[in-house]
Amino acid sequence: MVKYEVTVNRNVCLATMACYSTDTLHYKSDENHKSLVVGGTTDQSKSTRIFDDDKLDDAQRGAKACPVGAITVKQL
Ligand code: SF4
Repeated sequence: MVKYEVTVNRNVCLATMACYSTDTLHYKSDENHKSLVVGGTTDQSKSTRIFDDDKLDDAQRGAKACPVGAITVKQL
């Protein structure tokens, strides 16, 4: 098990849909196609959650897919 934090900077997100098309475990769309972290705490500017599982690679793959660098995945 790995503990890691996934954060989407929703001020930067351009709703390209790339992250949640790549990884549906960590990312999903809101009503405007901007990204949310699944099960996370979300406001206008940020969505974040700490995960404790073996899916870090998936989260990183989704983050890499973002063309504007709006996603941070930090191992804790
Ligand atoms: S890939 Fe980046 S810009 Fe596109 S929806 Fe996800 S966070 Fe937003």
